[in-house]
Amino acid sequence: MYPAPFKYHRARSVTEAIGMLSDIGEGARVMAGGQSLLPLLKMRFDEPTDIVDIGRIPDLSEINENGSEVNIGALATHRQIAASPLAGALAIVSDCANGIADNQVRSRGTIGGSVASGDPSCDWPALLHTLDAEIECQGPEGTRTLDINGFVEDLYQTALRPGEIVTAIHFQRPVSGSGGAYCAFKRCAPAFPTVAVGAQLSLSDGSVTSARIALGSAGLTPIRARQAEAELEGSPLGTESIAKAAEAAVAEAEPIDDQRGSTEYKNRLIAHLTEKAIRIAEQRASGQQVYNSHEYY
Ligand SMILES: Cc1cc2nc3c(=O)[nH]c(=O)nc-3n(C[C@H](O)[C@H](O)[C@H](O)COP(=O)(O)OP(=O)(O)OC[C@H]3O[C@@H](n4cnc5c(N)ncnc54)[C@H](O)[C@@H]3O)c2cc1C
Repeated sequence: MYPAPFKYHRARSVTEAIGMLSDIGEGARVMAGGQSLLPLLKMRFDEPTDIVDIGRIPDLSEINENGSEVNIGALATHRQIAASPLAGALAIVSDCANGIADNQVRSRGTIGGSVASGDPSCDWPALLHTLDAEIECQGPEGTRTLDINGFVEDLYQTALRPGEIVTAIHFQRPVSGSGGAYCAFKRCAPAFPTVAVGAQLSLSDGSVTSARIALGSAGLTPIRARQAEAELEGSPLGTESIAKAAEAAVAEAEPIDDQRGSTEYKNRLIAHLTEKAIRIAEQRASGQQVYNSHEYY
């Protein structure tokens, strides 16, 4: 189906985009890579009056590091991130970027669009919870930086205010002795995950000093599995603590029955993927190079 008619505007700068959004008001939608927005328009689930295309704003796709701070521009595509030195250095970022859909979607879809869509099936929001990321936004009232925790407030609903756009993602590069892994289970490459689990661990003298566990496609928003983290922190990793963390992650998940699987099926996958992500994160924290890829039916 064709989308309902809309006016198309191409913004040349963030300031111009914000101005356009304010002038047009409620009927305007931002478009970055269009990989989530265009399917919605084609199915007529949304009928905006105007599209503000931010996809060609210069300098919004840079990926750089300033000391220990990692900065990713909102327009960085999944493919650019997968090919960046950052993904070479942080295996969990590589796991996520390389596992999203297929080449076509990875070449157009952006990290900013993934975060701003509020779609619980998108991989970046869950992944960014494991890195305590911050989301930089600009709008008519200026710039603000929001914690990824709570940024996605509900299904397809974020903390963005009217006229605001996501401009960058920031997080601290994990300290040495840290490792992470992002594991998903999918029907096929160009499909969203049935469920996904990210784990980021820091270890010292064999004990876990910090743990982040986040679940994707496991509820109406990305879920930070804090009880699972508590099962790991302060003790050495072992079969028992990992099993308890997996059990806690299942208890914190809120999957729904849908075409991707039943609640029971998804809970079993969450337990499996939590254990797998923790094991790989542990190996990577000890300096091992571990290949990781999503699992498919
Ligand atoms: C076949 C297919 C398979 C896919 N599989 C996966 C998958 O496995 N994992 C996964 O994570 N994703 C998947 N996706 C989604 C893809 O990653 C999208 O690219 C991404 O979710 C949205 O990025 P985008 O740049 O395309 O955003 P758009 O589609 O342009 O926008 C999405 C939403 O975010 C808003 N928006 C976009 N950018 C901004 C911004 N900077 N500030 C404010 N609002 C903004 C738009 O208004 C819109 O509401 C898939 C998509 C397709 C079509």
